[in-house]
Amino acid sequence: MRRRGAILASLLLAAAIVLVAVVAYLLWPKGQTAAARPDGLAHTTLGAARMAAKDTECRSNLQQARQALQLYLASSDEPPASLEELKLPASMTRCPVGGEPYVLDPNGPTVRCVHPGHEGY
Ligand SMILES: [Zn+2]
Repeated sequence: MRRRGAILASLLLAAAIVLVAVVAYLLWPKGQTAAARPDGLAHTTLGAARMAAKDTECRSNLQQARQALQLYLASSDEPPASLEELKLPASMTRCPVGGEPYVLDPNGPTVRCVHPGHEGY
């Protein structure tokens, strides 16, 4: 019975060491990734995950802005003079990463993000 307790204690200790190692890996700074992102959010693996989420939010915003533009063009022969005419929520008119306002490109017409790296979104 005493031996069983010792085995259980050593198993718990091993599990705790593995847990600490995993948490340290997730939170440990990643030098190259941090240098690659000027906004500094990608210092850790969790920071990089948050960064990727904001990139996805930018893509989603642009997709919805383009759909709003298509709806606008369906009822109007002229493209809108500015993005404000699409009556989008304020949170959807700027890049969530850099805060730059989205640009209405009359050639297309389409909506673009000018944040570096988001040109192809
Ligand atoms: Zn963007």
